Parts: sequence; structure tokens; C-alpha cells
Amino acid sequence: MAQMDRRRWLGSMVGAGALFGMDAMFTAERTDAAQIGPNDQIKVTKIESFVLTNSWVFVKISTDAGITGWGEMLKDDAKACAAGALEVADYLVGQDPLRVVFHWEAIHRGAFYRGGPIKTAITSGIDQALWDIKGKAFGVPVYKLLGGPTRDRVRVYGTVNEETGVNAIKVGPRMEGRKATKYIEGKKAIDEIVENFRAVRDRYGDGVDIGIDFHGAVQPPTAMLLVKALEDYNPWFYEEVVQALNVDVMAEIAAKTHIPLATGERIFTKWGFREILEKRAALILQPDVNYAGGITELKIIAGMADAYYSPIAPHNPNGPCSLAASLQIAGCIPNFLIQERGDREHELLAKPLPPVRNGYRPLPTDPGLGITIDEDKLMAQVGEPRPYLPQFDNEDGSVVDW
Ligand SMILES: [Mg+2]
Repeated sequence: MAQMDRRRWLGSMVGAGALFGMDAMFTAERTDAAQIGPNDQIKVTKIESFVLTNSWVFVKISTDAGITGWGEMLKDDAKACAAGALEVADYLVGQDPLRVVFHWEAIHRGAFYRGGPIKTAITSGIDQALWDIKGKAFGVPVYKLLGGPTRDRVRVYGTVNEETGVNAIKVGPRMEGRKATKYIEGKKAIDEIVENFRAVRDRYGDGVDIGIDFHGAVQPPTAMLLVKALEDYNPWFYEEVVQALNVDVMAEIAAKTHIPLATGERIFTKWGFREILEKRAALILQPDVNYAGGITELKIIAGMADAYYSPIAPHNPNGPCSLAASLQIAGCIPNFLIQERGDREHELLAKPLPPVRNGYRPLPTDPGLGITIDEDKLMAQVGEPRPYLPQFDNEDGSVVDW
């Protein structure tokens, strides 16, 4: 088919396809043939964003080829991300969506004030959507465009479950009635947290990998006490033992324990992870594809981490694009460890992801991110995001981390 004829044909299909989604139409065919020719010119025509009542925030990019791409952003500051993504339209509409890395650079470096959670989330959501478009344009999942698959299936953690075979979980440093937020917790608190972890270990046995997530809510002296006290029960990793704002403090704790430290959900771009790696502040990196820089940046961060023998375990408490984009990363990097909340099923999808079996999620095979958003279901959940409220110490009323 000549280029113009193909475009005209595609154009005629858009009207029919738009109602059901072009992706679904081509997904159903499961053909190896590309949807458009590799040299066809396509252009971005529209950027839309959607904030849901659970604070998930989505970006949708449309093209004149009828292909649409979806991405997700940061749920804190959801409205700011949604508004910021629309501002990118001034630059991106009319551009070739297939130049994904070029656009990442343009959006990131086009800003005089770079990085930070919101700006990087905007770049990340748009990056996911552009990779989604590119994969759909070439008829393959993104990991194939990025040199994969590097594995056949993706280990996930979330809820231990006989049916899914998931055998890895994460727990907090649990106490009765309060959290361990004091600068230096006493013996009673430390013993209680250890006893609770021991009970979890006894319940699941040695065959389940159990990480402990301090959530950056524990002060460094308490974190140090807990790290040593819990070692005997072989936690799989310690996550966010402290906030990542002073990397030297995290590195000091990392140097004093043989249990691997994990961090990354509040670190942005390759420049953020550079310091973690160089200072050996954590072994396991947990970048979030929704706001560490998207698929483009996670691939780079994984490459940097590989030079330090550090694995990647993408952070993911979010929606279907977050999980799907993270699975694409798992499929194209060598140093992948496990996917957080990889066992979660998403009702916003028109068709479920391949189910988790024996603790592993098969790699998606559909083009792009490998998912089709059910736009009716998504639109039904658009609304005011939930408020993020500060947390207080229930003894002295001071502000604490959560
Ligand atoms: Mg966490």
C-alpha cells in the first residue's frame, strides 16, 4: 500500500475504531505486520489528562494515525500534574511522537527549573504514552523495541496467595497503637516491632521473602536500632530506612548491616540515583516509572545500577499504566529483581493482563504498553482527588512522617 493510500485507509478506520479503541482492533488481529509503515509520518494531535477520585492521574496522547498512547503520573499533586501535562501540548502537538527520547530531552531540558516530583512526573507520563504509541505503531510491546525480552516472565510481590503462587511480601515495622516515629525509640518499642516481625516470619515460614518498609518515617537512630535488631530474622530487604534527603545518613546505615537496603520511590531521574549508587546507600533501586522519568529514564537508571551489581524493583502503588510500563522495563533490562504490586488486577483495563502464576506475571504481548484502557470505566472515576493530610504524633501532637 502506498504511503498516502495507507494513511487514507488508516484515517477511514479511525472513525470506526475510535469508539472501541484502535488498539483493541489491532490487538485482536495479533498480526506481526506493523500498523503503519516504519517511515510513515505521524503527528501528535492532542494531549488530555484525567484525575481520578483515588488520585491516580492519567495522560492520553492522540495522533493523526488514530493511535493513542496512555501514561500515568504522580498521585500527590495530581491536579498540578494534570495541568502541567496539558501545558506540554504547546511543544508536543504537531510533533512526531516516535522520537521518544528526543521529546524526553526537550521536555526536561526545555524547563529552566528542572526535575522535582511534579515536572518529572509530567515527563514520565508523557514518556509512557509516547512509548505506548511507538509500540502500537510498530505492532510490538515496548520491551521488544528496547532489545528485549530479557526474561520470559516477571516475578511479582504483593499478597501471598496459593492461586497466584506469590511468595514475596512487604510489611511495616508494626507496633500497637502508634508508629515508631520518635527520634530514639526505647527497648520496649524495638522489642515489640521485632516480636511482630518474628510472628510474620513464623506465619509464612522461610519460603516467603519478606521485606520491611520503614517508609522513610523512622528517624535515623531508631532505624539503626531496628536494622540491627531485625537482622536475625533475615528480612529480604529494608526499604526506605530513612528519607533519601541526606544520602550520607542512609549510606552510614547501609554500611552497618549485611541485609540489603532498598530505596527509590522518592528519588527522581538518573541524577537522583547517581548519588545512591556512588555512596552505596542502597543495593536495590526502586524507581517509579510514573515519576522517576518514565520508561526512557528507568532504562538508563537500570544501566547505571548494573555497573554496581544493583537490581531494580520498580515501585508501584498505582494504576494500570504504571504496572504495564514497569513490566516493559522488566522485559528489557538484565538486572530486574521483582515488581511491587505486580499481582494487582486493574478494573480500568478492557482486557485483563496475563494472570500471575507461580509468583510470576507473563510479559504482556500486546503492542505498546500491552494494555487497553477502558475509557468508559476511567471516565466514570474522574473527579476530585483525595486530600493528602499531615500525620501527627499521637502523644505530643508534633508532625511526623507517614
Ligand atoms: Mg515503599
